[in-house]
Amino acid sequence: MNYKRILLKLSGEQLAGKYEGGIDAELGAWLAGQVKTVIDAGIETVIMVGGGNFARGAQLAGHGISRVTADHIGMLGTMMNALALNDIFESNGVESKCMSNIFADQVAEPFIHRFAEDYLVNSKVVIVAGGIGRPYLTTDTAAVSLALELSCGAVLKATKVDGVFDKDPAIHKDAVKYDHLSVYDAFSNPDIKVMDKAAIGLAMEHEMPVVVFDALKDGNILLAATGQQAGTLISP
Ligand code: UDP
Repeated sequence: MNYKRILLKLSGEQLAGKYEGGIDAELGAWLAGQVKTVIDAGIETVIMVGGGNFARGAQLAGHGISRVTADHIGMLGTMMNALALNDIFESNGVESKCMSNIFADQVAEPFIHRFAEDYLVNSKVVIVAGGIGRPYLTTDTAAVSLALELSCGAVLKATKVDGVFDKDPAIHKDAVKYDHLSVYDAFSNPDIKVMDKAAIGLAMEHEMPVVVFDALKDGNILLAATGQQAGTLISP
């Protein structure tokens, strides 16, 4: 089952690839190729980028930096990722548009729902900068909110490991992966930390499926976008 439209959430850490911080443009080009297979399959694609490779508000706040300013800095980090990814996609033959949820007219066009819709139906990848544009939120929550606003069939949340496990697979060799998890379990189980609870709560309230998967595995984005087994499906 193909989704008609999906939202892919990429974290800043993933975009940093082989580097400690900043952006791995080589990996970005590889991602452009993977996303192209999704577009070629007729599936409209929105990308929400994180900014953790530059700053995370909750970690930066303190020592004189207010949480609101720290979150503004975090959102600016997502802007840098979105701008870079947009250029990388375009130069690799994948038509894309960077739209911003923070005011930054000189560098990106504002996110306007109707324009985003037009781009998507014309097979352009819409890359969103600035999360949802308000502090005290993460790009995971912004991803679910935007997926709802743009009527996406699912949020594809890229993670380091391919899905949700009953315990940390990096530490426990016998960790078991869930193929499917109810959104209620994902929300209420304190050991499951795939997304922040605000994001999962929003997905639960509005029955938005979330696929937690490894986007850096060849072919996996297309598998997830076509509703085939990839990572863990979190749904009602
Ligand atoms: N942020 C925010 N509002 C939003 C989205 C993001 O204030 O709607 C800020 C917040 O400080 C967050 C930072 O931007 O920590 C970077 O986003 P995130 O931590 O989600 O990035 P990721 O971990 O996915 O790389």
